[in-house]
Amino acid sequence: MSALVTTVGLSPTSLPELPYVGNRVVRVGIMGGTFDPIHNGHLVAAEVAMGEVGLDVVLFMPAGSPAFKQDRHVSDPEDRYAMTLLATSDNPQFLTSRFEIARPGITYTAETLGQLHEHYGDACHLYFISGADAIASILTWKDADKLASLATFVGATRPGYDLESAQRGIEESGLDFDVRYLEIPALSISSSYLRERVSQGKSVRYLTPDAVVGYIEKRGLYRS
Ligand code: NAP
Repeated sequence: MSALVTTVGLSPTSLPELPYVGNRVVRVGIMGGTFDPIHNGHLVAAEVAMGEVGLDVVLFMPAGSPAFKQDRHVSDPEDRYAMTLLATSDNPQFLTSRFEIARPGITYTAETLGQLHEHYGDACHLYFISGADAIASILTWKDADKLASLATFVGATRPGYDLESAQRGIEESGLDFDVRYLEIPALSISSSYLRERVSQGKSVRYLTPDAVVGYIEKRGLYRS
C-alpha cells in the first residue's frame, strides 16, 4: 500500500496502481468535488462509502476547472489539491490525484471516467462519489449518456435531502444510471460555511483537519 501512496502526485497525470485484492475486480471510489476547501464532511462521506459500498480505495479528485462554476471565483487548483492531499495524508486507503487539475480546459467527469477506464481496463469497477445535489444534475453533464456505462454513482446527502425527486428525474431519463445514496449527518458542514467563517475571522478548527486549517491561514485563503 505504501507504493501506492508514493506514486500519486509525482507527475501531472499519474494514476495510482491498484491495490492487490486477489482474484476479483478492485472497487475504486472516485471522490469528485471542488474541495474549496475540503472538510470533515467530505472525509466522513468517503469513509462511510468505503464501508457501505465495500471500496478498496478512494481516490480524491479535485476538479481543475469545475464545469458548473465557470461564472464564479474558485481557489487556485494547486491550493485545493494541496489541502486535499493534507486532509487525506493519514489514511492509507485515501489517495489524492492531480489527474483533473493537470488536464487543461473545463473539467468534465465523462472525460475523467473514460480515461480511467482506458487506463485500468476491466481490472476495476469505478464508483463516482459526490454530493447528492451534484449527482442529481447528472443528466445535464457533458456526455451524460456515456456516463451511465462508466461508473456506479454514489450521492452523499445531507439529512432532510429530498431523495425522491432527485431520483425521479434520473429514472425518467431512460438512461441506465446505477445511483446509490448515503445519508451523511456530517455533511451539515459545507465548504461555503468554512469560507464564510474564515472571511469573518472565525475559527474553522475541528471542521477540517488541523493541517488544512494551518494551510488556509498560511496562504491567506478566503479572507474577504
Ligand atoms: P457542487 O455543485 O459544488 O456541490 C453540490 C453539493 O454537493 C454541495 O452541497 C457540495 O458541498 C456537495 N459536494 C460536492 N462534492 C462532494 C463530495 N465529494 N462529497 C460530498 N459532498 C460533496 O459540486 P461540484 O464540486 O461543482 O461538482 C461535484 C463533482 O461533480 C465534481 O467532481 C465535478 O467535476 C462533477 N461535475 C461534473 C460536471 C460535468 O461533467 N459536466 C458538472 C457538474 C459537476 P461542499 O460545497 O461542501 O463540497
